[in-house]
Amino acid sequence: MDQDKIGLNTVCTHTGELKDELYKGATSPLYMSTSYAFEGVDIKRYPRYFNTPNQLALSEKIAALEHAESAMIFGSGMAAISTALLAFLEAGDHVVLQKMLYGGTYALVTEQFDRFGIGYTFTEGSEPADFEAAIRDNTRVIYFETPSNPLLTITDIAGIAGIAKKHGIVTMIDNTFASPVNQTPIDFGIDVVIHSATKYMGGHSDILAGAVASSAEAMERIFKVARSLGGSLSDYTVWMLERSIKTMGIRVKAQNENAGKMAAYLSGHSDVAAVFYPGLPGHPGHEIAKSQMKGYGGMLSFELGPGLDASGFQKALRLIKPSMSLAGIESTVSSPCKTSHALMPAEERKEQGIADGLIRFSLGIEDFQDLTKDIEQALRTIKGKAVAAR
Ligand SMILES: *Cc1c(COP(=O)(O)O)cnc(C)c1O
Repeated sequence: MDQDKIGLNTVCTHTGELKDELYKGATSPLYMSTSYAFEGVDIKRYPRYFNTPNQLALSEKIAALEHAESAMIFGSGMAAISTALLAFLEAGDHVVLQKMLYGGTYALVTEQFDRFGIGYTFTEGSEPADFEAAIRDNTRVIYFETPSNPLLTITDIAGIAGIAKKHGIVTMIDNTFASPVNQTPIDFGIDVVIHSATKYMGGHSDILAGAVASSAEAMERIFKVARSLGGSLSDYTVWMLERSIKTMGIRVKAQNENAGKMAAYLSGHSDVAAVFYPGLPGHPGHEIAKSQMKGYGGMLSFELGPGLDASGFQKALRLIKPSMSLAGIESTVSSPCKTSHALMPAEERKEQGIADGLIRFSLGIEDFQDLTKDIEQALRTIKGKAVAAR
């Protein structure tokens, strides 16, 4: 079937599925073998070669979702990120990275790259000009994230791709926060798209996985490094991930809708001081987000009004769980200053606009009124405590 002609939910449900020819079962059969008979000199099937039947089938689905020629599935988002970066960088090279990045990526670069002799520069801001200003003669890769954690900063994807093409530099984007449902960066000229599939692709907080999608040529290069680094995913988890992605389209649309409504609700709330969501017309990246996203995503962040205790508020929630990860079908909240950005010096956090009371909110698929009821009861609880303490 022509992938361009079929809808997103059909790609999610059917593309790349394995047919159960033997019993005509509805789902893809699961092949757990780590040993396969030789099929010819060129084909050696082995999970760490990323070419088992289930790995190949799911790769096809992910490639179709990202409008890419080819894709690979990894054991974690960080396995995908480290493998992709190391496939295009060697000693003496330089990489330009966006200032606001996932903490694990920041740690990979700042803790490991010096040992490999790979230079790096973090941009001053998130405008294309900030990226161009950081480019050197030996820059081989530009790496960025949009929307980024935790202020949902938006970067102009086509703008970055244009600058990179002008200088002959490979572009890589972490597309985790948007998911391929909301954003397909290859359509805007990006070379390599990376996911923590632990998030929206898995969507149920029970799978750790990663994915990379790109041209067949780039994926060949990434594959050669990947089979040495060994970051493949077990076939059982590949199979679980395939099942999860079948519902990704409808899950993410429900999450988009809840996040959009929640952003509007919190913006109009007298106990809320600030809301960060790219779908809000007042968000600095709104116009660019509108031009490059199909939906604004299920993540937002906000600050409570003066005198309201952010950590007490999170503890008082009953339905919405304070939790470390994101993008599951259950709504969760976290404090970036205590989790994802805990290692960043307080001064640097302040400079980036990450207030100590900032709350990151990952919207699930619950009924909206149950989420607002929970927020209202938590606000009443902390206000009652404040009065009692006086
Ligand atoms: C979680 C996350 C990662 C890392 O993925 P793991 O699956 O935990 O290795 C990378 N980028 C973003 C944006 C993430 O949210």
